[in-house]
Amino acid sequence: MNHRGACACDNDTGDGAGVKTSIPHNLYSKELMFGGVRLPAAGKYATGIIYCDEKTSSEVEVEFAQLALELNLKVIAWRTVPTNKDAIGVVARKSEPLSRQVFIECPSDLDQKIFDRQIYVLRKRSSHELIKEGRRFYICSLCSKTIVYKGLFTSDQLWGYYTDLKNPDFETYLALVHTRFSTNTFPSWERAHPLRVIAHNGEINTLRGNVNLMKAREGVMQSEIFGDQLTKLYPVVEPNLSDSGSFDCVLEFLTMASERSLPEAVMTMVPEAWQNDKTMPQEKRDFYQWASCVMEPWDGPALISFTDGRYIGAVLDRNGLRPSRFYVTRENILVMASEVGVYDIDASQIVLKSRLKPGRMLLVDTKEKKFIQDVEIKTHIARSRPHSEWLQQKITIDEIRNANFATASDELKSTNLLRNYPFDPRLLLFGYTTETINMLLVPMFNDKKEALGSMGNDAPLACLSAFQPLLYDYFKQLFAQVTNPPIDPFREKVVMSMQSPIGPEANLLQPSVKQVHRIWLQNPILSIPDTNVLKSNIHRGWKTKVLDLTYEFEKGVRGYVDCIDDICRQGFDAASSGYQLLVISDRNAGRGRVPVSALAALGALHHFLIETLQRMKVGIIVETAEAREVHHICVLLGYGADAICPYLAFELAQALRDDCVINSDVNNKQIYNAYAKAIEMGVAKVMAKMGISTLQSYKSAQIFEAVGIGEELISKCFRGTASRIGGITLETVAKEAIERYNMAFGDRLFDTRILRNPGNYHWRNGGEAHINEPAAIASLQEATLNKNWNSFEAFKSTTLDSVRKCTLRGQLELVTDQNKVDISEVEPASEIVKRFVTGAMSFGSISLEAHQTLAITMNRIGGKSNTGEGGENSERYLEKDSTNSRRSAIKQIASGRFGVTAAYLANADDLQIKMAQGAKPGEGGELPGYKVTKEIAKTRHSVPGVGLISPPPHHDIYSIEDLAELIYDLKCSNPKARISVKLVSEVGVGVVASGVAKGKAEHIVISGHDGGTGASSWTGIKHAGLPWELGVAETHQVLVLNNLRSRVIIQADGQLRTGFDVVVAALLGADEFGFSTAPLIVMGCTMMRKCHLNTCPVGIATQDPVLRQKFTGKPEHVVNFFFMLAEDIRNIMAELGIRRFQDLIGRTDLLQVSRKGSSKSNSLNFSLLLKNALELRPGTNIVGGSIPQDFQLEKRADYKLIQMAQNVLDGVEDNTTIKLLINNEERAFGSTLSYHIACKYGENGLPREKSIDIFLEGSAGQSFCAFLSSGVNVTLKGDANDYVGKGLCGGSVVIMPPDNSTFESHLNVIVGNVCLYGATKGTAYFRGIAAERFCVRNSGATAVVEGVGDHGCEYMTGGIVVILGLTGRNFAAGMSGGIAYIYDTDGSFKNKVNLESVSLFPLEHESDVQLVKSLLNDFVRKTNSQIAKEVCLNWNESQPKFVKVFPYEYQKVLKNLEIKQGYSEESESVNEIIKVKEKQKEPAIKDIEETLKNNSSEQPLDKIRGFIKYKRDLNIYRKASERQEDWDEVYNFQYIRKHLKTQAARCMECGVPFCQSNTHGCPLGNIIPKWNDLVFNNDWQEALRQLLQTNNFPEFTGRVCPAPCEGACVLGISELPVTIKNIECAIIDHAFEQGWMKPEIPKLRTGKRVAIVGSGPSGLAAASQLNRAGHFVTVFERNDRPGGLLQYGIPTMKLSKAVVKRRIALMADEGIEFRINAYVGRDIKASGLLEQYDALLLTTGSTSPRDLNLNNRDLNGIHFAMEFLESQQKKQLGGKNDIICAKDKHVIIIGGGDTGCDCMATALRQGAKSITTFEILPEPPKNRGNDNPWPQWPKVFRVDYGHEEVRVKFGNDPRQYCTTTKELIEENGTVTALKTIQVEWNKQPNGQWSMSEVKGSEKYYPADLVLLAMGFLGPEKSLPTEIGLELDARGNIKSTNGSFGTSNPKVFAAGDCRRGQSLVVWAITEGRQAARQIDTYLMNVPSSLPGPGGIIDITRNV
Ligand code: SF4
Ligand code: SF4
Repeated sequence: MNHRGACACDNDTGDGAGVKTSIPHNLYSKELMFGGVRLPAAGKYATGIIYCDEKTSSEVEVEFAQLALELNLKVIAWRTVPTNKDAIGVVARKSEPLSRQVFIECPSDLDQKIFDRQIYVLRKRSSHELIKEGRRFYICSLCSKTIVYKGLFTSDQLWGYYTDLKNPDFETYLALVHTRFSTNTFPSWERAHPLRVIAHNGEINTLRGNVNLMKAREGVMQSEIFGDQLTKLYPVVEPNLSDSGSFDCVLEFLTMASERSLPEAVMTMVPEAWQNDKTMPQEKRDFYQWASCVMEPWDGPALISFTDGRYIGAVLDRNGLRPSRFYVTRENILVMASEVGVYDIDASQIVLKSRLKPGRMLLVDTKEKKFIQDVEIKTHIARSRPHSEWLQQKITIDEIRNANFATASDELKSTNLLRNYPFDPRLLLFGYTTETINMLLVPMFNDKKEALGSMGNDAPLACLSAFQPLLYDYFKQLFAQVTNPPIDPFREKVVMSMQSPIGPEANLLQPSVKQVHRIWLQNPILSIPDTNVLKSNIHRGWKTKVLDLTYEFEKGVRGYVDCIDDICRQGFDAASSGYQLLVISDRNAGRGRVPVSALAALGALHHFLIETLQRMKVGIIVETAEAREVHHICVLLGYGADAICPYLAFELAQALRDDCVINSDVNNKQIYNAYAKAIEMGVAKVMAKMGISTLQSYKSAQIFEAVGIGEELISKCFRGTASRIGGITLETVAKEAIERYNMAFGDRLFDTRILRNPGNYHWRNGGEAHINEPAAIASLQEATLNKNWNSFEAFKSTTLDSVRKCTLRGQLELVTDQNKVDISEVEPASEIVKRFVTGAMSFGSISLEAHQTLAITMNRIGGKSNTGEGGENSERYLEKDSTNSRRSAIKQIASGRFGVTAAYLANADDLQIKMAQGAKPGEGGELPGYKVTKEIAKTRHSVPGVGLISPPPHHDIYSIEDLAELIYDLKCSNPKARISVKLVSEVGVGVVASGVAKGKAEHIVISGHDGGTGASSWTGIKHAGLPWELGVAETHQVLVLNNLRSRVIIQADGQLRTGFDVVVAALLGADEFGFSTAPLIVMGCTMMRKCHLNTCPVGIATQDPVLRQKFTGKPEHVVNFFFMLAEDIRNIMAELGIRRFQDLIGRTDLLQVSRKGSSKSNSLNFSLLLKNALELRPGTNIVGGSIPQDFQLEKRADYKLIQMAQNVLDGVEDNTTIKLLINNEERAFGSTLSYHIACKYGENGLPREKSIDIFLEGSAGQSFCAFLSSGVNVTLKGDANDYVGKGLCGGSVVIMPPDNSTFESHLNVIVGNVCLYGATKGTAYFRGIAAERFCVRNSGATAVVEGVGDHGCEYMTGGIVVILGLTGRNFAAGMSGGIAYIYDTDGSFKNKVNLESVSLFPLEHESDVQLVKSLLNDFVRKTNSQIAKEVCLNWNESQPKFVKVFPYEYQKVLKNLEIKQGYSEESESVNEIIKVKEKQKEPAIKDIEETLKNNSSEQPLDKIRGFIKYKRDLNIYRKASERQEDWDEVYNFQYIRKHLKTQAARCMECGVPFCQSNTHGCPLGNIIPKWNDLVFNNDWQEALRQLLQTNNFPEFTGRVCPAPCEGACVLGISELPVTIKNIECAIIDHAFEQGWMKPEIPKLRTGKRVAIVGSGPSGLAAASQLNRAGHFVTVFERNDRPGGLLQYGIPTMKLSKAVVKRRIALMADEGIEFRINAYVGRDIKASGLLEQYDALLLTTGSTSPRDLNLNNRDLNGIHFAMEFLESQQKKQLGGKNDIICAKDKHVIIIGGGDTGCDCMATALRQGAKSITTFEILPEPPKNRGNDNPWPQWPKVFRVDYGHEEVRVKFGNDPRQYCTTTKELIEENGTVTALKTIQVEWNKQPNGQWSMSEVKGSEKYYPADLVLLAMGFLGPEKSLPTEIGLELDARGNIKSTNGSFGTSNPKVFAAGDCRRGQSLVVWAITEGRQAARQIDTYLMNVPSSLPGPGGIIDITRNV
């Protein structure tokens, strides 16, 4: 069994092995006799081995003897245990203890039982009292019946080291042997098993909580047995023990100090899954329920074997996650082990072959020499007390409700209902955001489940966030990987339970009715009415103390800290004075009262009560507004909450219902039910990912790691939680809470219209940083499209900025003091790129095109691409095109094991085992049937249309032993491949990695929490896993420390982008680097984060054929990326003086901490991260992979097999027959043979005419016949272990008992767990029972077996299974394909099948009958099965007992394929079922596919696929022929409005909305996706609020803005963008029409006065904002009306002056003073204003027009465009002025753009004779050029309203391109014509364009009116000059003080006068932000006016 243990770097030191036996009295008597000591009779003394060291052993022995004396015990002898050093490894020898054996006499007058107890006290006390610094002291065991020999060995070294064990005098009647493979702790002598009572194969996941609660129980325990001595036994759990050690202590304590027998104590600690087991007898269920009131389960995968010397037994965890097989012989010997074949017994001597079932116990009474079955033991224990009667006294919530009827009945009595959503300040106070509500809560209320997200998490860690994250966000959920398996909480909910008792616990040591005096809750969420009832409840004498979580605002930060201390004190007082419940409540939060964090207070209180031993006296209920998400609830439960009332979430839901945001028909109870259900499912998922199945165990278990919380805060509130980089204090938490308070209740919040939304999930302009933000994505795409280094530099710089804001590595920087080397000396990029791999993205999650592009890329550069778990089609890996090879070098083997065949394995360079994935560690996934296309189904060996569930990783791996086995299997299946294991970063990953390295992995991937592309619940994406920086550093360090680093290559993975990222990863210890998101972006991904919807608009994350056509990615672009990246790395290496990449690895000395961040980030401590691993173990070889792992493959039987079959393989012979013996050391038998077959014959195995027939006898090792190819037929007489036929791909396996066995095969176990896992083809006949998880994920094999354990046929997608006997529970869970036929002998099957995805039918149809019969006949022929014979013989009686298990999806697919023959009788039933299922599935679709009604047509509008279905509306203007007849606005408002909703449906609400980005999209950061959605949903008022939060004047922008947002819209990549501007305009116009736009007069006035010069858009925006801030604002306008450009520059056709007037009037009503005809700088001195006002803002615009530098410029008829437009506007508004009139004139407009267009439209209306415009640039292309990629403003040919009108009127477009004016021709001083010449443009080698004239292209144009529209040169200079302002090189006012301040601190400038000529929308943006800076200046505190994107931040100065 050496293969089940681990070996250290010396290949000779095991992780531990040992044996526990009865005391070999004869041996000891003889041994002591030599020393002259006579031992008392057997049983009359106790003995044990104690580890000491030479130096201190004698003093220890004296002290020990002294202590014994105190207990009236006498040490009679010491003996040095004889050992042989040479038998053990070098590493073990280094820490070898001195093993001293002590003998203690039982006083003659002492009762044996009392003696044993005293010995126990001695052991406990000496363990507590004799351990001192510098002294080794550990008692292996101390007992009168048993002795433990153990140490740091492999299992065979044990016998060589302890020579006693080989002494013939050593006799024992029992032996408990253990060998260890350590993955959660470092191996040591002390940690070897067996322990004092148990030996354990598994892991207790809930350890922290179990240990904490055990400590807490010390406060309520009393013992009749030990009396006062009891406290001497404390702590029950000794410090620094492993999970097994802790379990051992408690089990020993329970048996010693209470009246429980050992089996009962075991049952209490490891209960069965009783809650959902309908078949369990009531009395047993009642025992378990009673016992759960006594103690929470110690939960985790576990096979615990135990003995007290008399009884020896074992128990298996509730889910059966460890193997345990046993034989009983005729000689009454019971042999139980993890495998069969450990003990050679003649088959004829065996009477029973069985296994422990999940949750079952096995016991042997060595005294009675009796084997006791589970049922017998448990029935006995269940009946030992009146548990059922006692249970009647448990308290239920219903009982409390009834008792408090008067207060409970009226749910409306719930206090403080939220009525004014979203303005309830508590929402802001508790950090609610729009995302919280819309993305997280609404789906929970609507659909009873959490919503999905995708593309990982790229937002800042909480410790780096600037937006006051809640304390919960600092906690990352831990998850199971390698050491234990996560559970599938949905398909395996049979083992999950959310029930829990709360309230005081009674004395654990005294079983009684008192234990059930607790409240039994079905789930941990309390409704508001129930919480109210509990707060005042006095039923059955209970008392509740409510502790206030709020304090007075005035007390500031100190008050916060004091409040938490007060809560602890009050809690203690209440607990010690008879209260049963504590309710900590922040209900009083509000104006004047700041809430402390409920989490911090809870943690502090919980730990304080544990420390003071009061915790078990009370239950703690948390009534808080803070918690609402699944993660929040999890963290509260993890840190001590018994139940939670998230009241604000409920209140919010009620408000949302009233607003019709959620279903308006639901009542409060339904809201509660929906929410509680969603939380229940969410929490279950979080528990399951750690392998925890009961809430009771999860509570207080602290399954989290903190990132960025300082030691002080951890020890006060979260004691025992790992927090590796330190960080914030309670004061920081307080400060941020006060900031939230100020935002909620501050008196200067004057422009808060919507709930704050910093964009934690989706990027938002002005919000949280994200690594994937628009500018970076755009630059990266641009860079790689054309190998544009400037764009790459831009990408690097924006990315680095985000990396600094978001990640840990961003807090580091490279040292700069190294001697640089010349770049030419640095390793070439072509070598560096070989270290790059692309991430494991399946074909299925991404399109075939994208998947293949990545493969081709990586093959071209010599890197590696990864298939992902979806696998790869054989055509791809067999093709030989060297430049376009689509083969992925890395083949991933994941939990679903989708179609892994011998050929797939044989064609890999790397075989990667996915233990976890960054985006959702510990979770599985699902590919819905509609995504399973023909190609995908073929690749995954499945059926098109049948959904594929990937269970949580890794469903065939329960432990490190199993992982080691899979590594071995894969190596055997492809000896040339490198075996890789993918892990996700979390605390302890280094120890796990060292276990994985010992398991012989050659490559380890450490993924960060942030990576991942798959869809998952937001909880998984956001809150599980840790940054890779921590994981890589820890892994490298631990591997170096254990000298294992040279065996493995480490790969870092997770949001790697730039050279900096790669170099940091290398310096921390990584050799290779994985990239997923970056190459996707290069291929066109825009991070829409809609991957889960199958609607990726760029054809990447979709299987939709229409969308796939939109894929434009090219391998060349991705190659460009990797080479640009490598060059970036080379530059960094040159700077660091490093020539070879290998020399970077592990050089943490080249990194230093950058202290440029915030105070929060500066509090982080990176010393652990930056520790140089070589300091831990100097001189270690750290070159990854330089020492090969030794698999000892040459010793395998397969090599013999291959030799014997060589002739068949070579085609020399067709058949061969081979006969061999086999034992359990022979693992993966047949897989290397299959590898050779696959290499030679490919996917189909041996040709039909060939066969290799193998006959074996014995007990086969694990993975027998794994990946067996077609043509290989194996028959085994004997039995086999786990994983028989794993990945079977065509071969045939027959296993039957040996001929001489006498037992009945159908009652005995013949094969182990997880047989035929992922089989794709072939047959398997097992004459006997298969253990748990038979045929899981079988997709094509045919199997016949005589019985199976739990979870049979789980996730099966194809194949046929016949079961001739009993099945276990949960049969067919998640089964979507294939058929199973069950011979249901006792009619119990229907209670064991999981009917969620299958239906049951009788075996009736002829084709089924024939199929089953023929299989049975074949089975009988091959195995001689008696049961099959009987069934066949008595077919008429047998047939009705068969049940056909037929999955719904499969039925549907078969039906669709019209494979109907044979299913006629079922068709009705099938149809019914399909109907029912479809109905049931509707809600599931709803959460991703909302269909809504279109008002206009009453057709449902499809928002999800709207962008595919609906075309963009182009008819936004009235008819050109009509509109040119009037001066009215040109827009066709009626038409636009009619189609708005359809247009809004085209918006995809992108995760990264480029439209909103002020880099390319809307400068204002308008929250476009939100208001688009609101318009779609008819919520116009909220849409208005969203709009006004960012934009003061949507009526202007909605009319005149050229809409860069639309240019940047993602949809514009491949078609016309979303309509944005028209929607914007419609929202505001509708608001005016509805009367919603009312003056908002500021409530407070500051008394400060601001003068604004210029009333254009910038000045108006600033005025509006400053007025809102309470300042007195005066706007000076030199013209006769305010509005600047809006008034006179833009014609009425585009912007009606009534619209301008309406706005100015509104502003005036709000208190803004407008002074017209006030020409500052001419008539009014600016210096005067400076004296009168507190601040002066210049928004004078860019008004100096660019002129024409030609002779005759001053001719009549030549005008600037603005003069022309202004004169027309004035006239229209009733002015007395003359207009510049175009009537009957030839009009020439020089210059294009909007102004030119406005001029032509005006001239047209005036009656011009002809209109021509000259543009000097060439005609723009129809489509974007390569140098103008999306999302840049598209420089394409457009036809605006003016162009169209001219074309309609004169028949041609007025624009003449490449035309420049050479001469102005006159007559009588008036212009008459223009001479022009054509120009051409040429690109120079430097990339610049140069213009030259085309000779002979001169032309004359008649001209009566020439309008110059060539732009503006800057502001007029008189005003800035007067007050001495600096100008920039372009003549604009220079900002020298912040963005808008000038050289004069009182003077500010904004808009075109500062920025230069720009768009109206930029002017408004400038005005808004300038107002913020002015407000900050005036008030001397950060402004609370909204910043970019409308986000308010009162913590930072502008
Ligand atoms: S202001 Fe302009 S850029 Fe912004 S959303 Fe409106 S139209 Fe688009
Ligand atoms: S407008 Fe375009 S870019 Fe903006 S969210 Fe909608 S689809 Fe995305």
